[in-house]
Amino acid sequence: MLKQSIHARKPSNVAELKQFFVAAKDHAGGNEKLVKLMPGLTVYGGDVRVGALTQKVTHHNTFKVGSLNVKCLSMPCHTSGHICYFVTKENSTEPPAVFTGDTLFVAGCGKFFEGTADEMYKALIEVLGRLPPETRVYCGHEYTINNLKFTRHVEPNNEAIQKKLTWAKEKYVNREPTIPSTVEDEFTFNPFMRVRYREVSTRACWDQ
Ligand SMILES: [Zn+2]
Repeated sequence: MLKQSIHARKPSNVAELKQFFVAAKDHAGGNEKLVKLMPGLTVYGGDVRVGALTQKVTHHNTFKVGSLNVKCLSMPCHTSGHICYFVTKENSTEPPAVFTGDTLFVAGCGKFFEGTADEMYKALIEVLGRLPPETRVYCGHEYTINNLKFTRHVEPNNEAIQKKLTWAKEKYVNREPTIPSTVEDEFTFNPFMRVRYREVSTRACWDQ
């Protein structure tokens, strides 16, 4: 199936896939098949459990994808070898992008399968939270509406949450994605980026 679709979609004016990066070992399905179909692919990842891995990376490693600069940000927690990828382009007016896999979602964060709350705090606040505010956030799952419903429970008086939820529901009806968001926006409605605000920390204590 995969083979057929690759061949069917390979017109001569489309660039061939030469490399790709993987955030977490549970986002690596199909890697082996892809590498078999297109030998010579470079597969970046931070975990030896990533299928067909050819280039293991760690915190602050950099590489290029065409004219794009990619910087690896190690974020152990969802999985121990989880990497986020921060992508910039020199002399570009486009904002940077970060591919956050299962660490940061729109209005949420990933489960702590192989890490601790301290590690997630560091990832969200001290690393991702310090990227340029305009950085576009491309996460690994479209969980936005459910995340915002939970978030509304945490901060019922936060207007940014209600506004984002209304917007996300419209997107859903129109069959459009809610991704990307931005680092700046996440600070307005994501409870895991807002743990230092009194209402969020108080609610977290009550709910324990
Ligand atoms: Zn995932």
